[in-house]
Amino acid sequence: MRAFEYTSPKQKQQAVGLLGQQWNDAEVLAGGSDLLALMKDDIVHPKRLVNVKDVQELRGLSFTPSRGLRIGSLMTLFEISEDAQVKEHYPILAQAAGDAASPQIRNVATIGGNMCQRPRCWWFRNGFGLLAMGPNGKSLVVAGDNRHHAVLGNEGPAYFVSPSSVAPALIAYNARIRLFGPKGPREIPLEKFFVIPKSENEREHDLRPNEIVTDLIVPAQPSGAKASHYEVRQKAAFDWPYATASVVLDMNGGTVRSARVVMSHVAPIPWVSNEAAQAVAGKTISEQTADAAGAAALANAKSLGRNKHKIQLARVAVKRALLQAAKGGQA
Ligand SMILES: Cc1cc2nc3c(=O)[nH]c(=O)nc-3n(C[C@H](O)[C@H](O)[C@H](O)COP(=O)(O)OP(=O)(O)OC[C@H]3O[C@@H](n4cnc5c(N)ncnc54)[C@H](O)[C@@H]3O)c2cc1C
Ligand code: SF4
Repeated sequence: MRAFEYTSPKQKQQAVGLLGQQWNDAEVLAGGSDLLALMKDDIVHPKRLVNVKDVQELRGLSFTPSRGLRIGSLMTLFEISEDAQVKEHYPILAQAAGDAASPQIRNVATIGGNMCQRPRCWWFRNGFGLLAMGPNGKSLVVAGDNRHHAVLGNEGPAYFVSPSSVAPALIAYNARIRLFGPKGPREIPLEKFFVIPKSENEREHDLRPNEIVTDLIVPAQPSGAKASHYEVRQKAAFDWPYATASVVLDMNGGTVRSARVVMSHVAPIPWVSNEAAQAVAGKTISEQTADAAGAAALANAKSLGRNKHKIQLARVAVKRALLQAAKGGQA
């Protein structure tokens, strides 16, 4: 690991002041479960680390029935998964946070870090850059072993998959993310925080090098909303899933008034499927409608050569999440 300066500010204004204008001037350190591995592997090499764990205002979790949930960016996945209010009002957030990684990792991994974690693409993690371009300017992913890569939003040049399995649950609940930078606070829909980079010097988040994530805001859900989160994993162990689907249904009796269907690990961003939502709107959820929604969600998917199986896995995840939600969802 290269030498770096370590700072531990107590205020968010100080933290932002210690960050740089360019990536690699400085990096924010939260739980360190991703960043330290990236530094040890020399994938990122900041001159300065800005530890934000002493910034108290980034902590805390509160819920009010009218305003919904506020989660400070330093809350750990463990704390979120065990919180009684989260379990009651946002069950698939509790589930997704509790299913990620292992107990040891969930104990240190923060929700802010989870949103900002970097892709697991094996070329990126081995120093070939986020877009994994070969010396001839051609994608190594397209020519190589792309079994874990994107099947949607994969027109290029980005082919990695967005690694968070928690973000889709938050996006299904229409969460917003709050950022803080030199010009003050900024709040955007979480869905818009994830972007597909077009060049090697862009990142996969709408986050400037001198901004930090301060909170996540999850609005109150309509009464009677039904939610479900379905993960396809190689086995029940601590690794990232192959594909997930998070579903929130706003119900009018037995009929779906509107739906949010969000997949992870299928695209360079958490993938919101308006096609699947439209396929179930105004309908009751049956084996047939759920299957049609799964098909609609993946209708535009394209295999890169070795990842065709992911199309089927994601399709089944959407179908099963919808069926589970209609039965009452996750408790
Ligand atoms: C074995 C293993 C299995 C895993 N499985 C899953 C899984 O199934 N699903 C899943 O979603 N995740 C999984 N993870 C990822 C894990 O959840 C993340 O590593 C963790 O959430 C990152 O949080 P952190 O606080 O440790 O972040 P750090 O490692 O401290 O930071 C990660 C990145 O976010 C940036 N960052 C952190 N906090 C902020 C902030 N407040 N503002 C701006 N930037 C910030 C850092 O600069 C860095 O780039 C797994 C990790 C491991 C090691
Ligand atoms: S065994 Fe568990 S605690 Fe040890 S390094 Fe692996 S994930 Fe971390």
